[in-house]
Amino acid sequence: MTPRIAIIGAGFGGLCMAIRLERAGITSYTVFEQASGLGGTWRDNTYPGAGCDIPSHLYSYSFEKYTSWTRRYPGQPEILGYLAHCADKYDVRRKIRFDTAVTAAAFDGTGWRVTFRPSPGTAEPRVEEFDVVVAAVGQLNRPHLPDIPGRSTFDGVAFHSARWNHDHDLTGRRVAVIGTGSSAAQFIPPVAERAARLTVFQRTPNWVIPKPDAEFSPRTQRAFHFVPGLQRLYREWIYRYAEGTLYPALAGGWSADLLRKRALGHLHAQVRDPALRAKLTPDYPPGCKRVVIDSRFYPALTRPNVEVVTDKITRIAPGGVETSDGRLHAVDTIVYGTGFRSTEFLAPVDFAGRDGRSLREQWREGAEAYLGIAVPGFPNLFLLYGPNTNLGHNSIVYMLECQVEHVMRCLPYLTSRGPMEVRAETMAAWRAQLARAMDGMVWGEGCQSWYKTATGRVTNNWPGPTTLYRRLTARPPGGAYKFG
Ligand code: NAP
Repeated sequence: MTPRIAIIGAGFGGLCMAIRLERAGITSYTVFEQASGLGGTWRDNTYPGAGCDIPSHLYSYSFEKYTSWTRRYPGQPEILGYLAHCADKYDVRRKIRFDTAVTAAAFDGTGWRVTFRPSPGTAEPRVEEFDVVVAAVGQLNRPHLPDIPGRSTFDGVAFHSARWNHDHDLTGRRVAVIGTGSSAAQFIPPVAERAARLTVFQRTPNWVIPKPDAEFSPRTQRAFHFVPGLQRLYREWIYRYAEGTLYPALAGGWSADLLRKRALGHLHAQVRDPALRAKLTPDYPPGCKRVVIDSRFYPALTRPNVEVVTDKITRIAPGGVETSDGRLHAVDTIVYGTGFRSTEFLAPVDFAGRDGRSLREQWREGAEAYLGIAVPGFPNLFLLYGPNTNLGHNSIVYMLECQVEHVMRCLPYLTSRGPMEVRAETMAAWRAQLARAMDGMVWGEGCQSWYKTATGRVTNNWPGPTTLYRRLTARPPGGAYKFG
């Protein structure tokens, strides 16, 4: 039988799965997308300066030679354009049902009953049946708005970076930015250029290294287009660089000190004022939080119309932001660059597995999945960009492709032998293996980050080299699963 496959999400992961199925001649799938456009995080994040700090040629599918990249590091519109190009080229758009939010999925012993949010004017939620569910809902898609007292009393305009209010012109405004992560580092420079005053509220400084961005000259673009193998070679070089130098820095290896020196050198070169420099110097190991890769962030902070405030925010008042030193920072706009509810994996969907067990309940101590893909008690459910598959040093698209290949390897098994479920003992061995690998990584101690739960368990990051992940996901899946 050909399995009926529901893919949830039309971002990088969901599209990769759909394209791979098409290429294998399997068309019995549907992609459900809650929004009216594809692109996932690259559709949502339209803030000024939005882009990727992983080079274009690596932050793309390995199977799709794309010669239209205009620069080394892609901007958000280019990435969205790339995804649209892929969806059209591989003809998967016809299989995407937009404006269709999956709210629940329940395993009924043989397959999945998927429930959708009722469409306007209808009371009853619609239910459809599938053999397999592939959840590709991302890790960084639910904005985190901080629990600061008085937030709702603010009488100016406030919004989150992933829900940018483009109708609100920032020219001449007094703007507060709360947060200094990778998103804020990208939008602070263009906001600082427009605003009359910008107050940046930094709770924890980040390690920042330069982003050697540049446009590709027409000659280079032509070379990528016409010289056989050049694009692949370039991609391979960037990949090996990330794997060979950045990964060891996160694993306490030979380049950890080099990364620290590079970041401190960048700070010293770009920030002359010792007081500001002191505020911006982290006191935890580089890589413990996601390293910011940006060359425009520090210069923006040194502008005369920008102030970096490190006093604790005590409340939001109608007229601005109040800090522990008793100051009211009067502003008319607040931008929350406060990140995402990253540890609430699959949160938009209520999954009920074998015997009605709730995935939310099973993950109450933190999300976990074998290879980040499969969960005991939830047969024929596969996760893309699931628990412990995020990277701090390389392209997530690489990981997604490994996951998609694993799912493809599983399909013949589940069609011939019945629903497949990862064995509890496989999961236990995986958990132990992860814990051992995690020991050597820099994320564990010294900082809080979106990589881990409130109790300090790292649920988001993959602790090994990506080459190892590829090998593990490429193993024949049979022994790790039980059937029926
Ligand atoms: P983030 O890294 O989680 O940063 C959130 C910021 O908000 C932090 O500075 C945090 O301070 C601050 N914050 C949160 N709650 C606060 C509170 N109650 N009071 C004061 N400050 C508060 O979020 P993000 O910048 O959106 O980035 C998330 C991830 O998205 C990145 O790490 C990266 O993986 C991805 N991203 C990637 C790119 C790219 O180019 N590839 C670009 C943008 C984003 P603390 O540090 O003290 O918690």
